[in-house]
Amino acid sequence: MAGHPLDLGRRGWLKASVGAAAMAGLAFAPGDAPAASLTQAQRDAMTPDQVIDMMKRGNARFRAGKPQKHDYLAQKRSSALGQFPAAVILSCIDSRAPAEIILDTGIGETFNGRIAGNISNNDLLGSMEFACAAAGAKVILVMGHTACGAVAGAIDNVQLGHLTALLDVIKPAVEATKYTGDRNGKNGQFVDAVARTNVLHTVEAIRKNSPILAGLEKEGKIKIVGSMYDLSNGMLTFLA
Ligand SMILES: [Zn+2]
Repeated sequence: MAGHPLDLGRRGWLKASVGAAAMAGLAFAPGDAPAASLTQAQRDAMTPDQVIDMMKRGNARFRAGKPQKHDYLAQKRSSALGQFPAAVILSCIDSRAPAEIILDTGIGETFNGRIAGNISNNDLLGSMEFACAAAGAKVILVMGHTACGAVAGAIDNVQLGHLTALLDVIKPAVEATKYTGDRNGKNGQFVDAVARTNVLHTVEAIRKNSPILAGLEKEGKIKIVGSMYDLSNGMLTFLA
């Protein structure tokens, strides 16, 4: 066994916790495709920072065009009787920003809540409380993205059925974004700047509106982090 588990890392989620893997009786020969989802021992052995590190490694594999060879049928079988995801991701419904692919994760490894403009509301808070407080996920990753239509819609005051109320949740980010150029939804730079602000607002809203999640973070059991995904180059940038 090599040194620190994270040094082993190109295979990402499974390989990153080789000590726990050994505890769980799993063998990982170099070069093997991930043949099972995360076990409870593997997930529980990770710190929130290690989970974030694995997300970064997964995104690097995605960007390099070298994703893991996921054996989805094996992962389906191994996770059917129980799931131990390491993270819950709150991301936009945009078809170009599928979190599992961008992060190169497999079945059973992340919860995923998707909603236009990656906002938080009571239903999503409940989902994230389930993911972390009941099911043991270590990280909440809020993921915004460039060229977000929901953000552009909020900037331009789009009115459309139930979408209107959803966009209202994004609007404080429009006001809060300092930008001296054209402040409209056709200006991609401004849209992306507002999307970034909106991610930070969502992170703060989660902390403010869920004492359960804020408490878990204070105890060091979870981390709540924001990120921006760039549609053009595939890069996921973590925000402070
Ligand atoms: Zn979007």
